[in-house]
Amino acid sequence: KPVVALVGRPNVGKSTLFNRMTRSRDAIVDDMAGVTRDRHFGEAMWEGRPFVLVDTGGFLSNDADSFAAHIRAQVEMALEDADHVVLVLDGKSGVSYYDRDLVDLLRAKGKPFFCIVNKIDGERHEIALTDFYALGIEEPFPVSAEHGYGFSDFMDALTEDMPLEDEGNDGQPEGPIRVAVVGRPNAGKSSLINRLLGEERMVVSEVAGTTRDSVDSLVEYGGKTYLFVDTAGIRRKGKVTHRVEKYSVIKALQSLERCDVALVLLDASEGVTDQDVRVAGYASDRGCGCIFVCNKWDLMPPEKKDVKRMKEELAMEAKFLGYAPVLTISALTGQRVIKLFPMIDKVYEQYISRVGTSHLNRIIEDATARTEPSLHNGKRIKFYFASQVRTSPPTFALVTNYPDAIHFSYKRYLVNQIREALGLDMTPIRIKFQERS
Ligand code: GDP
Repeated sequence: KPVVALVGRPNVGKSTLFNRMTRSRDAIVDDMAGVTRDRHFGEAMWEGRPFVLVDTGGFLSNDADSFAAHIRAQVEMALEDADHVVLVLDGKSGVSYYDRDLVDLLRAKGKPFFCIVNKIDGERHEIALTDFYALGIEEPFPVSAEHGYGFSDFMDALTEDMPLEDEGNDGQPEGPIRVAVVGRPNAGKSSLINRLLGEERMVVSEVAGTTRDSVDSLVEYGGKTYLFVDTAGIRRKGKVTHRVEKYSVIKALQSLERCDVALVLLDASEGVTDQDVRVAGYASDRGCGCIFVCNKWDLMPPEKKDVKRMKEELAMEAKFLGYAPVLTISALTGQRVIKLFPMIDKVYEQYISRVGTSHLNRIIEDATARTEPSLHNGKRIKFYFASQVRTSPPTFALVTNYPDAIHFSYKRYLVNQIREALGLDMTPIRIKFQERS
């Protein structure tokens, strides 16, 4: 899926726009824990064309003193990595110094971008656009993110060349298992990749990835093939010493979009940090299979070499990934690295699993008979029919009389019942409630 980045100075309405653009998909991304984490990216879909939307204002916040430097940094990253860039300007407050700076930067990079002039609530406000023509932008889109004016014209233009949703993905998956390695800087990503690709027992070949400049590595091990996606950037980095690299969230998102199983790498010697939890959150939202890989286990002092404790810490800090198994390794010494493969296999097997309709309906009947959902305005919530609508991850549709009235805790209960009955303890599972048609 293409990644679209929103850039712009604060208060131009990026998050309102973000919400409007992702709204249609909200029902599908499920929020198992019932907690709202910061969402700076989300799935969006327009006329059957899916994309991932990133609000660049979100993930680089607060730590920069200077607005100008801060905004410049986010734009530079977005420019390098995103497939499409949308510059958001404020039609009410007019053109500011920072806007000019942003436009210059975009031009200097030579990357095409869409420009939205926000807070235009109707045709009579379009007069405000003249200011923006002075910036040399030929086709600004007047939009009201809040009220929707101009929104569909903009979305049509943005998604015009994007591919339609790949329905074929729903059938029997084919080809190698696709694996992404993500984790905060210094977790040991390049060490792990180099270690994996350097193992003698493996046959490795490089293949072109699907996005610009990306290279994947095809690894044969134990008679199976695995595709480690976007390894070029990770490996290249290994050769550059003493360079502090900014973590590119967009790059991580792109790899996650392309993978079946994500290895979420942590530096175990540092414990579970906020940044680790954030990366884990990206993987969770994406809905791929996940494995927590706790690296640098060789650095752990004997009294802290406690896998059980590590698991507990992860379960507490990253509850939303409770289904992700945990493996402790050392990329440096190679300890247990090879164990990743059977674990990837296991997670993948669950990730693509299918259940028959009658079996599924029996599970739901049993579950709802044992614990009924609470009443909705005094009426009983009933479930009529359940079916698995797709795999990768297993996604179930439940037909009910009140799809919007079901409490998240009951949804979680149903997910857990399905997990238990089917032995799906290592994959994300999604449930959608649908109205009887
Ligand atoms: P990346 O930023 O995630 O790609 O991390 P790197 O692979 O560049 O590793 C960061 C630092 O941690 C480097 O100095 C590595 O040598 C070191 N490192 C990586 N894995 C291990 C490990 O398993 N044990 C130890 N002791 N050091 C490691």
